[in-house]
Amino acid sequence: MKKIAIIGGGISGLYIANLLKKNSNYKITVYEKNNSINLEKGYGIQLSVNSINLLNKIGFHNIKLEDKFHPDKVDFYSLKNKKKICDLNISAFNSTEVKYTTLQRFTLINFLKDSLPDSLINYNKKVTQINYETKNIEVNFENKTSIKCDYLIISDGTFSKTKSIIAKKEIKPKYFNSIALRATVDQAPTKEINPDNISLSLGSKLHTVIYPINKKGQFNFISILRKKLSASQLVDYSLFESRDFIESVLSDLSYQISPDIIKNLKNIKCFPVFVSSKIYHPTNKNTFLIGDAFFTFPPTFAQGASQSIELAYELYENLENQNNKFNQTRIKRTKMINFKSRFNYFVFHISNPLIAFIRNILMSYLVRNKKFIISYLGKIYKN
Ligand SMILES: Cc1cc2nc3c(=O)[nH]c(=O)nc-3n(C[C@H](O)[C@H](O)[C@H](O)COP(=O)(O)OP(=O)(O)OC[C@H]3O[C@@H](n4cnc5c(N)ncnc54)[C@H](O)[C@@H]3O)c2cc1C
Repeated sequence: MKKIAIIGGGISGLYIANLLKKNSNYKITVYEKNNSINLEKGYGIQLSVNSINLLNKIGFHNIKLEDKFHPDKVDFYSLKNKKKICDLNISAFNSTEVKYTTLQRFTLINFLKDSLPDSLINYNKKVTQINYETKNIEVNFENKTSIKCDYLIISDGTFSKTKSIIAKKEIKPKYFNSIALRATVDQAPTKEINPDNISLSLGSKLHTVIYPINKKGQFNFISILRKKLSASQLVDYSLFESRDFIESVLSDLSYQISPDIIKNLKNIKCFPVFVSSKIYHPTNKNTFLIGDAFFTFPPTFAQGASQSIELAYELYENLENQNNKFNQTRIKRTKMINFKSRFNYFVFHISNPLIAFIRNILMSYLVRNKKFIISYLGKIYKN
């Protein structure tokens, strides 16, 4: 029997645990640094068909219909003139069982966690050291305990400390010069927007996304705005929780976003956006990186979790087929999605009114061009 240790109980770690648990030749354990799984009630997540297809393999389609939503379109709006620019039919890639889905993060993570036996997750296990000198891999934790395993799967997120430990050098993500403001909204935000679609509003140096997270009339609000922060501000986590900072971000937003929307925001949270600058390829024996620990994308293609799920599935298949080679197509795919996410960021944040006007005309044309949609979205959504 092969022992597999999974470091980190986020979307990627829990998903791969669900896949591997089906094989009785594996003894798997998830090691999570916190004393519980972070369920983040309220906030939303978008999942495109490439990940829904893989989630359905572990029973995701059984989630109650009222706890998820299938928007058909992304409606693009201009924050400058408050007019709709165009809409994009994201349901074009749907099939009867596999549909673009928006839902609460809680619903997804709880489903992944509840599908595993409790005994499979060990809490308060923060990795401090990894030893490859022994026959197996030895993992040491902060609480002075250690385990031995045959395979090590690292899924401890954007700030992966375990990645730095195996690389024997500090690998830090880069600040993306942007702040994210996340909130929940309990009613259709304004009558101008269609509550059944994803509303993506483009402003100057910021964009905002509002989408339904279930069939109970709840919505997720997220705004990404450019903001330079000093090195000392970036390490001061209390800054992002302070009322003054949140108020200052809301005040920045209020120049472009309707007060009707801002006044209905609840559970507001701010955080700096970090991304990966390079793909790190581990050379340590039987050691793999998945999820944000492998690569953190800018959040402008809503692909972070979907890619985490794809990569976890790919690793599961490699383990099943005893094929441990790092996949060159995965590197190409990661670079392509990273490029498109950065391109979206640039297009969504244009501040020059003339260039924004030209962008709007181009977008209205491109969303109706099948060839473009298949090439721009289809390459990502059809894995
Ligand atoms: C603003 C924003 C919006 C987003 N929206 C979307 C979206 O709509 N759709 C989408 O697909 N993606 C989205 N994403 C990305 C998505 O949330 C992430 O890609 C995804 O959650 C990554 O999952 P993960 O399991 O790799 O990491 P995480 O969810 O970060 O989980 C890592 C886990 O590891 C644990 N851990 C950390 N260090 C250690 C350690 N040393 N030892 C043990 N355990 C440890 C942590 O406690 C945590 O439980 C968004 C991201 C942002 C920033």
